[in-house]
Amino acid sequence: MSEKMMKMLVEGGRILGISLEMFHMEHFQRYYSVLMEWNRKMNLTAITEEEEVVVKHFLDSISVLKSDKIKGDEKIIDIGTGAGFPGIPLKIVFPNLKLTLLEASKKKVNFLSYLSHVLSLTDVEIIHGRAEELGHAEKYREKFEIAIARAVAPLNVLLEYAIPFVEPDGYFIAMKGREIGEVKECKRAFEELKCAVENIVEVRLPFSDILHHLIVIKKKEHLPLKYPRKEKLIRNKPL
Ligand code: SAM
Repeated sequence: MSEKMMKMLVEGGRILGISLEMFHMEHFQRYYSVLMEWNRKMNLTAITEEEEVVVKHFLDSISVLKSDKIKGDEKIIDIGTGAGFPGIPLKIVFPNLKLTLLEASKKKVNFLSYLSHVLSLTDVEIIHGRAEELGHAEKYREKFEIAIARAVAPLNVLLEYAIPFVEPDGYFIAMKGREIGEVKECKRAFEELKCAVENIVEVRLPFSDILHHLIVIKKKEHLPLKYPRKEKLIRNKPL
């Protein structure tokens, strides 16, 4: 990553409320190199231009901090993390996070394992699996203070993936784009899944006119065992 991009990252971090130090920057630089190296062999991201990676991947991931729910040592699961977004940038910024990355594609899981090794990340668990299956596993069900997801599914589907992982009084932060009309269509999903929108935070990405929203959803009580349902039902009959 060039000197100019490093400066953008530091300034973007500052705008988003975080002061990035030299060791953070070294990690982001290594992340960028490994991402580009692997991206030549497999399809990890369509975003490859340096400045776009900084803004649309790194800074966008860090923008979750604007939800005001992440203080630095929480137990967090990133559902459908792909090439590690937003989970890995958050872990770089807050090394004490206890991070679980869940991803359905084995190839991406291999990338994440290699990346985690190269960055010497500790307290990171990488799981190859599907959210609707892992959400029933004793080890993961209602075990996280916070779940996060970016670009995985429409909100009514995503809620059924994510809420089973969240402990009562915990939060699911859904990273959504400019349009958030879908929130209004999730009334039944909120009721069935024992959760409610606590806050919607508008985020303007630094160095762009891209507007995003963080939907901050609070889980109120334990979830009935029937959720999450099987993948086909979730997709064909979303709540
Ligand atoms: N969150 C990353 C990002 O914003 O760059 C990746 C987004 S990518 C469009 C969606 C990812 O979610 C894919 O890597 C896919 O394999 C994963 N995914 C989709 N449904 C899933 C599920 N039910 N359980 C686990 N992973 C899932």
